[in-house]
Amino acid sequence: MEKERKLIIAGNWKMNKTVAEALDLVRGLKLELANVKEVDLVVCPPFTALCEVSKVILDSNLRLGAQNMNEHPGGAYTGEIAAFMLKEFSVRYVILGHSERRTYYGETDALVARKAQAAHAAAIKPIICVGETLEEREQGRTEAVLERQVRGSLAGLTKEQMLETIIAYEPVWAIGTGRNATPEQAQEAHAFIRRLLAELYDEGVARRVRIQYGGSVKPSNARELMSLPDVDGALVGGASLEVRSFSDIVKNSI
Ligand code: PEP
Repeated sequence: MEKERKLIIAGNWKMNKTVAEALDLVRGLKLELANVKEVDLVVCPPFTALCEVSKVILDSNLRLGAQNMNEHPGGAYTGEIAAFMLKEFSVRYVILGHSERRTYYGETDALVARKAQAAHAAAIKPIICVGETLEEREQGRTEAVLERQVRGSLAGLTKEQMLETIIAYEPVWAIGTGRNATPEQAQEAHAFIRRLLAELYDEGVARRVRIQYGGSVKPSNARELMSLPDVDGALVGGASLEVRSFSDIVKNSI
């Protein structure tokens, strides 16, 4: 399958895996996916496993991502992790504004934008998550919500920074529910976000920025979703926790 933008598939392991379990998983993925060149591959373990996982993937095609970071450069923020700490483990990507962080920890678009600035300052590429709830979709507010989140979360990013940013469209009602967006719903939302990027930046930026789909991606629906013209990869939760399912998602996407 020939696509204009290189696919990027990331596994968000969330609050799962001991260090030993994380090592098992990443060793399995390294073997299974060793020959994959067509897709950028990212694993996002919990903070506690970043150090050990980073050593295993050093000589592989897997890249490391974190699931969150603090917006400040460092200092008295008990319990938080700054970008420079992630850099120690060669973290290349960071998921920002995941709906679980927006819902459970009150993260706002403005905070996500500050985190994105901090990530870029450390040369870490943010994966910025946006997506509507079921209620918002049913009220016909999907585009208004996406527009607010995209404008707010990208606020202040230069064109150069935008080109090093990934957007993940994750309809909240599809996350962890087994209910994925239909291809039509996904394509429509992705095309809308791309049009917004053209408005906020220019056509060239809109054409180059990768927009991942997230929400109950599994081996059985990956091919159809990844073949959509404006879908440039996946952010995978549940199905990224096992070697077989994550590898099959990647292989079915090529
Ligand atoms: C996610 O949390 O980013 C996600 C997409 O989860 P799942 O694949 O389990 O729906």
